[in-house]
Amino acid sequence: MIARVILEIALGKDFDYLVPTELENVVQVGSRVKVPFGPRYVYGFVSELAEKSFYPELKPIAKVVGEHSVINAQILKLARWIADYYCCAPEIALKSIVPKAVRREKEGWHQQLFVRIVPYGKPDFKLTRRQLEILAIVEEYRELPLARLLELAGTTAATIKKLEAKGLVEISQQRLERDPYENETILPTNPLPLNPEQQQAFDLIQKAVREEYSNIFPPERRSKKDSSLSLRPAPVFLLHGVTGSGKTEIYLQAISEALEQGKGAIVLVPEISLTPQTVERFKARFCHGKLQTSVAVLHSHLSEGERHDQWHRIREGRAKIVIGARSAIFAPVSPLGLIVVDEEHEHSYKQEETPRYNARDVAVVRGMMDGAVVVLGSATPSLESYYNAKRGKYILLKLTQRADNKKMPVIRVVDLRSSHKGIPIFSPQLKEAILQRLEKKEQVILFLNRRGYSTSLQCPKCGYVAECRNCSVALTYHRQCEKLLCHICGYEEKSPTVCPNEKCKNPAIRFSGFGTQKIEEELKRYFKNATVSRMDSDTMQRKDDYRQILTEFRTGKIDIIIGTQMIAKGLHFPNVTLVGIIYADLSLHLPDFRAGERTFQLVTQVAGRAGRGDVEGEVIVQSFTPYHPAIQFARRNDYEGFYEEEVHFRSQLYYPPLSHAAMITFRGHNEDKVRIFADYFKDAMVKKWKINTDSMGLIKPQGDASGGERKNCPTDQLFNDLIVAGPAPAAITRTHSFYRYQMMLRTKKMATLSRKLAELLQHIKPLKDVTITVDIDPVSLI
Ligand code: ADP
Ligand code: ZN
Repeated sequence: MIARVILEIALGKDFDYLVPTELENVVQVGSRVKVPFGPRYVYGFVSELAEKSFYPELKPIAKVVGEHSVINAQILKLARWIADYYCCAPEIALKSIVPKAVRREKEGWHQQLFVRIVPYGKPDFKLTRRQLEILAIVEEYRELPLARLLELAGTTAATIKKLEAKGLVEISQQRLERDPYENETILPTNPLPLNPEQQQAFDLIQKAVREEYSNIFPPERRSKKDSSLSLRPAPVFLLHGVTGSGKTEIYLQAISEALEQGKGAIVLVPEISLTPQTVERFKARFCHGKLQTSVAVLHSHLSEGERHDQWHRIREGRAKIVIGARSAIFAPVSPLGLIVVDEEHEHSYKQEETPRYNARDVAVVRGMMDGAVVVLGSATPSLESYYNAKRGKYILLKLTQRADNKKMPVIRVVDLRSSHKGIPIFSPQLKEAILQRLEKKEQVILFLNRRGYSTSLQCPKCGYVAECRNCSVALTYHRQCEKLLCHICGYEEKSPTVCPNEKCKNPAIRFSGFGTQKIEEELKRYFKNATVSRMDSDTMQRKDDYRQILTEFRTGKIDIIIGTQMIAKGLHFPNVTLVGIIYADLSLHLPDFRAGERTFQLVTQVAGRAGRGDVEGEVIVQSFTPYHPAIQFARRNDYEGFYEEEVHFRSQLYYPPLSHAAMITFRGHNEDKVRIFADYFKDAMVKKWKINTDSMGLIKPQGDASGGERKNCPTDQLFNDLIVAGPAPAAITRTHSFYRYQMMLRTKKMATLSRKLAELLQHIKPLKDVTITVDIDPVSLI
């Protein structure tokens, strides 16, 4: 028998090996194996078993790692899809899918010696008093770790060994599972009766989980199967529910349904909202009753050992529910009935290193492969998902009201242009509103998406601006440490007291702009009796800081929190009645076609923190562009309106969601080399693909939002809709002392483009000093 193996060293193709007879019953698709490769050994995954190979002389597999096949054929297929779509080698995709601790040859379990009483081991000889004491302890525990026994009895291992030799106790190796949450107590909860909107949404999801598709799909889609991926027609739902509309309750009840069907579920949440409170809501529902199962939690703070144990707990079916950040989409749940992606619009689902996958999109593909129902939930769906829902690819479910009959907060926009001197941090309206809330002993959240004290240091005399020596950005002043920091690469230097320009040395250098530190200081100055706390990545250094500050806020020890996007979502504090957005324009002017969408989402999400208790909430948004659609639609809580306007704008330029984008970045220390290589790459591409020069980003395609065919396009067969923009210097040209040039390609046929790009990359001779990265469906363009 022959095994095709995907080797861990990135070679981009499979290699054939002989399966020795003694391993024939052990090696399976998905087995992890150690094989000879040249003079050394390497690891890999078996991707296929075959009778014959084209290659005459094959080496045998040296070893199978672990007792079970580590992944199944389904996950392997998913890895291939990721490799093809995101333009990387399958082994790179597999590295993301299977955690390091699981890939290792060394047994990953933590083993410990346990001591146990041997039943009926009554001795026919006399025991010493010491031995009797020790036996009494073991008897009391029945079984306990040897180390613990030695500690309790104040004895040595040799003494216990003697007892074992006499047949009184047994010593054995056992697994010790590392559970980061073992010591918590949780109060069980029961399903809430759903309100009519929730019920309507849930009914459809429930039917889908039960595979009663007839009421869900139109007839023509029911029979449609894509045989190349052997896809099953489980539907994808887009649950668009305003903040606090009870989406989580629907997820919980849908998971129950999956468990009823004997299947498991994966719940993805953004890393930042994977708080103990979130996890507890899921554990509390499934820690009791007939559907009881344990909930595995996967996040980036797990130790390697913990990750290993959680992974196997899932694989063995001891945990049927998995909740986690991005990479939890690869959890070995089988059979899988449901995937929930909460806050599906979040950019943190995109991995910003190879493989550059978006967990939300992988969820949809995995759902098809596993026949699992997918629920994407958000108060502010991404344009991509909403577009898919409008086209009938996803099924749209709406929750327009808050679940507990709480009113949506009133949003007021304050025009900062009317203030006369400089940029006021607090408009009179905001100041007054804060005062009123404090008087009533209510709480306030203020949001500013910029940390630090001042955004830049400038000399008014000679014009000097303190810039990072590695990046083309200004340094931010941090007052507490008296330093200038780069928010991109972390470079820091001491803050100067006079202008560093040798010829100037002006002592009156000026700090301009403001960040959260300055707001905190100003708040303390204005509102002397209030307790103010700041939440940003400068104050949240340790793992527990976050939890601690939120507990203090919950118990009313803090009156005002000022924070960055860390506070924008998920928080549920009934006593927060006022939310202030200090400067809404910050995300609006980024050189990114999603700037408007980002701003709309931020304002809506931040506003959603207000009025979650009995008192109606109020939101104040400060802006210099108060009439910008992103701000106005957010103010009116009009997602649909925003969507229509934004899609119209995107269609003019053939941006996603009308097309898919691929961003190719060229990076190197020498700017000339980077530019020349980028141009050379483009020329080679144009020639090889026979691209019509009309498509070089110069034409404005007559895109239409319904996805109809566009006329007067370039003629090439493969890419009759390709648009090429660039290469041009990236918005921040230099970061980490690398110059970056970017080229953006847009087409509807991304799968084809990915394949062509992979071929092209093979074909073009790389330049030593310039690296190329390909980012498919990029979310960050800066
Ligand atoms: P979302 O996930 O949409 O932001 P949540 O699920 O957090 O909303 O719900 C907001 C609040 O409403 C929570 O306190 C939740 O317990 C409550 N809630 C949800 N569904 C119901 C319901 N059917 N009846 C009463 N309260 C509900
Ligand atoms: Zn820098």
